[in-house]
Amino acid sequence: MKHVTHWIGGKPWTGEAQRHGDIYDPATGQVSGTVDFASATEVNDVVAAAAQALPGWRRTSLAKRAQVLFAFRELVKAHAGDLAALITAEHGKVASDAAGEVARGLEVVEFACGIPHLLKGGYSENVSTGVDSYSIRQPVGVVAGITPFNFPAMVPMWMFPLAIACGNTFVLKPSEKDPSASLLLAQLWAEAGLPDGVFNVLHGDKVAVDGLLTHPGVAAVSFVGSTPIARYVYEAGTANGKRVQALGGAKNHMVVLPDADLDLAADAAVSAGFGSAGERCMAISALVVVDPVGDDLVARVKERIGVLRVGPGADERSEMGPLVTRPHRDKVASYLDSGVAQGATLAVDGRVHPVIGGASGGFWLGPSVLDHVTPAMSCYTDEIFGPVLSVLRVPTYEAAVDLVNASPYGNGVAIFTCDGGAARRFVSEAEIGMVGVNVPIPVPMAYYSFGGWKASLFGDTHVHGTEGVHFYTRGKVVTSRWLDPSHGGVNLGFPVNS
Ligand code: NAD
Repeated sequence: MKHVTHWIGGKPWTGEAQRHGDIYDPATGQVSGTVDFASATEVNDVVAAAAQALPGWRRTSLAKRAQVLFAFRELVKAHAGDLAALITAEHGKVASDAAGEVARGLEVVEFACGIPHLLKGGYSENVSTGVDSYSIRQPVGVVAGITPFNFPAMVPMWMFPLAIACGNTFVLKPSEKDPSASLLLAQLWAEAGLPDGVFNVLHGDKVAVDGLLTHPGVAAVSFVGSTPIARYVYEAGTANGKRVQALGGAKNHMVVLPDADLDLAADAAVSAGFGSAGERCMAISALVVVDPVGDDLVARVKERIGVLRVGPGADERSEMGPLVTRPHRDKVASYLDSGVAQGATLAVDGRVHPVIGGASGGFWLGPSVLDHVTPAMSCYTDEIFGPVLSVLRVPTYEAAVDLVNASPYGNGVAIFTCDGGAARRFVSEAEIGMVGVNVPIPVPMAYYSFGGWKASLFGDTHVHGTEGVHFYTRGKVVTSRWLDPSHGGVNLGFPVNS
């Protein structure tokens, strides 16, 4: 049984926690360890450690910061397999998927290695006679990152490489369901030469989150998780005077026009619907087919699902693993019954999908398809966050766009078509933050910014890319004059340029 604890001021916490959470192996259903839950005391301690490290780190040269980031990049690359194994053991996703998550997180570290360039300001000589102006960006202070279970390495890496590169110090509050990857990342930072206290990990639940949201020493909060908690974190954080970006849940549509390559569309719907057991914020959960191709597409989807291999994430034969917890698995499965009760057709029942090499206690649910779903059904209105694909049939392109835009969520969307004009119009008309054209999971590269619209993002700044640099810094404009003997004298008028 492993025991996971906080990482404060460059070392593991040595105190005795009053509360703990269980960590499960989703493939067996067995408890594999415990994680300490922070109390208000540890919240104070971790913020104090981050605050103490702040002055030294923000004074550290850009060249030195970049060197530490390059060293961290090499170490994460060297330990990518270890990180992926920890993720699979606690989240359940298959090894290749866990490796992919580490690789996408590394891209943000690589982007952050360019911090000297990213923090370049502007300079204008002689804005007025003998006066120069320039802009700089400075760190905001102690930053907290609160992250979900579904990407225990990648989502934290959307945040802390840039926050740290910008000169801030960081407190990560990872998901209590899969906390181990964050500790390995903390060890790798230390090995890379990051000073103690610049990166810290605080484990826990609402107590830890609320402590960070109300602590006067925390300047900014990045959050990724479900919409109700994102809204709460945004409201509580901003009410406490903090800068907040809070990314929420999603219901991502994939629109298939009748002229699309239906084999490509079926491959994409199955890959994006069931990869990581549908536990991705960019998973496709609503397949919107413009008829008359609905029956044909559903038949091709069913064909592909029939041969999908579901099994333990560590078994290299597996293409899809278990769900993260028993209650989550049961909640996801309940939508199969409620969907049918509300009039949908259960085209594929994942409850009877074979599991290869899996223990009976694992949190298994195979890929499932509900067909003839309508917008009023709860399987459509709710974010299920599991391997359940809802198929909605619509008569026209316009009806498909109306359906997409009526969704309260606005994270990702995809269109499949061979018509460039239709795709171009869709890109313009979709009220969604990330759009894919014949690409089902349009996750932006690290040098662009990731984030949705509407109930998928509270706050106005997306993560990583240049928006990430802006979120973790404050702009300052300097107007400077070196006195010339000919200048001087009192002038109460508003400064105008001459
Ligand atoms: P969650 O909202 O339950 O938890 C996220 C974080 O908030 C965790 O660290 C958790 O400990 C904390 N938390 C949970 N309940 C809390 C409460 N009542 N008060 C304060 N803090 C609380 O999300 P999850 O189940 O871990 O992750 C899945 C969700 O995350 C899905 O809705 C998914 O769409 C979303 N997600 C969104 C994105 C995105 O980029 N928009 C990315 C990944 C995941």
